[in-house]
Amino acid sequence: MCCALAVVCVAGCYRPNVVAGPVISEGAGAAAHMQAAALQGLRLHVFNTGMNRVSPLLVGSPAPWRSAPAFVIEHPVRGLIVFDCGLAEEVGREGEASLHPVTRLLFKTRSLPGKDLVSQMRAAGLDPGDVAYVILSHMHFDHVGAAPAFTNASFIAGPGARANSVSRMNGFDPERIAWVDADAWHEADFSRGEPFATFDSTLDVFSDGSLRLIRGGGHTAGGIAVLLNLPAGPVLLAGDLVVHFDWLRSDDVQRIVLDA
Ligand SMILES: [Zn+2]
Repeated sequence: MCCALAVVCVAGCYRPNVVAGPVISEGAGAAAHMQAAALQGLRLHVFNTGMNRVSPLLVGSPAPWRSAPAFVIEHPVRGLIVFDCGLAEEVGREGEASLHPVTRLLFKTRSLPGKDLVSQMRAAGLDPGDVAYVILSHMHFDHVGAAPAFTNASFIAGPGARANSVSRMNGFDPERIAWVDADAWHEADFSRGEPFATFDSTLDVFSDGSLRLIRGGGHTAGGIAVLLNLPAGPVLLAGDLVVHFDWLRSDDVQRIVLDA
């Protein structure tokens, strides 16, 4: 419990950490180039598995409700790819009672039966057994909920993600990924990364330009994002790198103090 109290204490003293980001227009040329080279047949499905709201204990003032999204990418060669798994099915069925006491203290969480990722995939005609890859932005409970359903998948996460997410006191849910064998668990090695657009280090996962891992950090140690090159234009799947738009607009880079 002392870890959780430490988090609350530090968060209670929180002050915005303002760091100006790159000029977004610098990436416009790269976006146009990406779209011209996009892989035809690449599709993105967006699902909302529920919502949650950060406690004033963490951010100092009431924060708005935000969705707990999960994404399924259809790759014409590689098959189905999941990016983040949303809330667990139990949250819709049992409510917050299914979550760890510290998680319930720090977040208000809501879902409904049938809103978990697996149920919504099946309703959309997507078989969880066909998922070849699961990419996890980070290991917080609202991003790994449906992970146990993807038993045929290889998992991809950020550097040190598994070792750094063992404490449920910090909002992680390590049991959701504990079953994944070591040979099916892969962590990005950004020492082999290359700069792309405004990003310092990226990895072209399939060497076809369709999906780049981007080094994150800030929200949790080893967090990652995905830049997806859809035919309609590039999309950034950012995990919790941006939790609320007002934080992005104010260049406030860190509201939750869990980074190493
Ligand atoms: Zn998070």
